[in-house]
Amino acid sequence: MVCLFCRNDSSSSRSVEHIIPQSLGNTTLILPPGTVCDRCNNYFARKLEKPFMDQSDIITLRHHEAIPSKKGRFPSLDGQLDDGTPFTSYRYSNSSLSGLIDTSPEGVAKILAGEVRGAWLPAPPDAWEEPQLSSRLLAKIGLEGMASRLVGQDEGLMYLAQEPQFDPVRSYARYGTGRGWPYHCRRIYDANKKWIEANGDEVQRIWEWDILVTEFGEWYSVLALFGLELTINMGERSIEGYLDWLHRHQNMSPLYPQT
Ligand SMILES: [Zn+2]
Repeated sequence: MVCLFCRNDSSSSRSVEHIIPQSLGNTTLILPPGTVCDRCNNYFARKLEKPFMDQSDIITLRHHEAIPSKKGRFPSLDGQLDDGTPFTSYRYSNSSLSGLIDTSPEGVAKILAGEVRGAWLPAPPDAWEEPQLSSRLLAKIGLEGMASRLVGQDEGLMYLAQEPQFDPVRSYARYGTGRGWPYHCRRIYDANKKWIEANGDEVQRIWEWDILVTEFGEWYSVLALFGLELTINMGERSIEGYLDWLHRHQNMSPLYPQT
């Protein structure tokens, strides 16, 4: 067994690889041990996923949407009362925004005295701060997502690990080789959108992922995080083909094909 990224023997690797970060609630889209070796798994966790999750925009989003860490904690968020007094908002549950806990005694006094009524928190983002970090994570998710479709087919996984056409995206994800990699970003539904399940339950979709193969044989990894669709070309540093595909398909999302 060889690793999808470094091609070293990964037969003795023990770590399950989470294609989408586990801290985004992913427990199902995973790869069995050895598909990605322990060393690459550890590298991605430390160098891509943690810095991505620690971005202020992502922390803001996780606070608003109540996404717990692996330890079950919600990130706090700094805001201001309407007179400019700083406070920190903490969440203790995912049901509703918890009470606001002020960081200063005078702020608490103002709230108790009714002197301030409003509070301001940073809004959830429409894009992320660090394009290279995001695009490398998207490249990793794309290649691993393709591997997830081949689990159990050793020849298919070996092809994906050895195929030269995926070497640029492979080494960009793993080693940051080259000068960035463009990706397409747009909102396809509101971050707070609630979906009704077959049993009537209301749910929120944190992430969705699929692969798009265009009529011209281009492969795109399409990820949605809270309705923000992030698309990356697995073959080359260009999103022109995706813009063309959108134009020819009335801007529909590949995640929601109209049949
Ligand atoms: Zn490896």
